[in-house]
Amino acid sequence: MCGVLLPITTIAFARAAPFGQSGATRKHLETMPRLSRRAFLAASAAFAAGPATGARASASGGVDVVIVGAGAAGIAAARRIATAGRTFALLEAADHVGGRCITDTRTFTVPYDRGAHRIHRPGTYPIAGLARPQRIEVYPAPPSQKVRVGRRYARQGELEDFLTLQVSASRAIADAARTADVVCEQVLPDNLDNWRPTVEFILGPFGCAKDLTQVSAVDFANSAKRDTDTFCRQGFGTLLAALAEGIAVHLSTPVITVDTRRGVAVETPKGTIAARTAIVTVSTNMVAADSIKFIPDLSARQRDAFGKLALGSYDHVAFEFGGNALGLDSDDLVFEKATSTHTAAILANVSGTSLSLIEVAGQFGRDLSAQGEAAMVDFAANWLAGLYGADVKKAIKRSHATRWNHDRWTLGAFSAAAPGGQGARRILMEPVRDAVWFAGEAVHETLWGTVGGAWVSGERAAEAVLRRLSGEKELGSARIEKKAKRRSRHHRAPRRGRPPFGAAKRFQP
Ligand SMILES: Cc1cc2nc3c(=O)[nH]c(=O)nc-3n(C[C@H](O)[C@H](O)[C@H](O)COP(=O)(O)OP(=O)(O)OC[C@H]3O[C@@H](n4cnc5c(N)ncnc54)[C@H](O)[C@@H]3O)c2cc1C
Repeated sequence: MCGVLLPITTIAFARAAPFGQSGATRKHLETMPRLSRRAFLAASAAFAAGPATGARASASGGVDVVIVGAGAAGIAAARRIATAGRTFALLEAADHVGGRCITDTRTFTVPYDRGAHRIHRPGTYPIAGLARPQRIEVYPAPPSQKVRVGRRYARQGELEDFLTLQVSASRAIADAARTADVVCEQVLPDNLDNWRPTVEFILGPFGCAKDLTQVSAVDFANSAKRDTDTFCRQGFGTLLAALAEGIAVHLSTPVITVDTRRGVAVETPKGTIAARTAIVTVSTNMVAADSIKFIPDLSARQRDAFGKLALGSYDHVAFEFGGNALGLDSDDLVFEKATSTHTAAILANVSGTSLSLIEVAGQFGRDLSAQGEAAMVDFAANWLAGLYGADVKKAIKRSHATRWNHDRWTLGAFSAAAPGGQGARRILMEPVRDAVWFAGEAVHETLWGTVGGAWVSGERAAEAVLRRLSGEKELGSARIEKKAKRRSRHHRAPRRGRPPFGAAKRFQP
């Protein structure tokens, strides 16, 4: 181990380009039946950052906490640790903060969320409440969705049938989950008929990033309803980056080893940092792929838990159109009445712009993304042409497809537990040798797969670390979560000039 000076890196994000409602998106709107969003989903379970302040080494050298990963969980943890006046080093492998919640302001003329876009349950969890002080505009998602049946929209009666079947499918899974953690797909009702592929797509790939054959019924049933969403006009990633403002983040600093034999020693290519504790927020697939070496190794039980929470596949194929090519409203969500797993969803005219996202997910999305970006764009353009006519393809000005399964620092989208694996989330909440805590979307029992869940789990891990540092007794996890939620509701980013985030520039072994 050698003493090193890690560069404190200013978080480099371009300010979101100004943009507004596209007049074109308001024209040529068809009249079509809609389901209320509440009813529909009830069925289914870069601001430029300010100058970063540094982190002060503790008197004994090193820091109180090393936080690995500056996604939602890492940022939330760092804010909490800093507010408590403890020293920390937040290490991020990529050259930007945000992880799976990042807004790209370069590819298109408008902000483009490459990962998370919807703020789920804004009234319950803190993220949306923190937007206003950050000068980010949030607004409610439209309350309904549409279903395309070939080249027309579903009629009211068809939508009602579909909704009824979707509700009964969700109920069947929830009922089965009361007695056993079975495979979701095995307990679907027999009467889904020709709506079955659509119901399976919405509850499986679209909701869980996995086909229902791969999803635990208990995890599905425990998942908090995500029926009220808000959107960020500047992008969800822009909001998250703003919440990291003022936090010292060491970008391009991948952690190689976490050694807990004597205190905590965290090795990076830039040197080794000594710490009293660590919070590790990297994705489950990153841990399962041994991207970080733990010394001593994690227990077989923990490794098994990471494996059971493997990430599903979920990607956006983004099209910037010349005008309102699909004739849809701002932020309209459209499904098709599918006949196979080769289907997708459309989030049209994002925040009133001419950017639309085609969502591909589950096993079909995984296979497609393995073929590369061109194949993804090709599928999405042809699929849209099948639903809206060939002229749609001519209206595409620019395109891009995410490939999260191939993202070097993530290796997937988000975690839905494998059948029988829901208990794995609690196992990840247990500390390793009273020194390392895991956090992230997978470490939340009801909000898994969301930025809100990652945020709350980061705060919860920080609370556990703070108790450990002050020698307090462990509280029950339910109480911890309640406390973290209460605090985050009232918590605001520190005022400029006050020094809570960080402290030192120098780390010593
Ligand atoms: C396409 C897509 C759409 C989504 N849509 C939504 C949505 O609409 N709403 C929603 O709430 N959620 C959505 N999600 C899920 C959401 O993005 C995630 O649940 C959340 O962002 C996870 O945050 P996290 O902090 O747990 O992990 P991450 O964001 O993955 O953060 C972990 C960080 O660790 C870093 N890292 C990895 N390895 C190392 C290492 N060795 N050393 C240092 N750093 C490392 C990574 O670079 C990353 O920045 C979506 C996800 C995807 C992929």
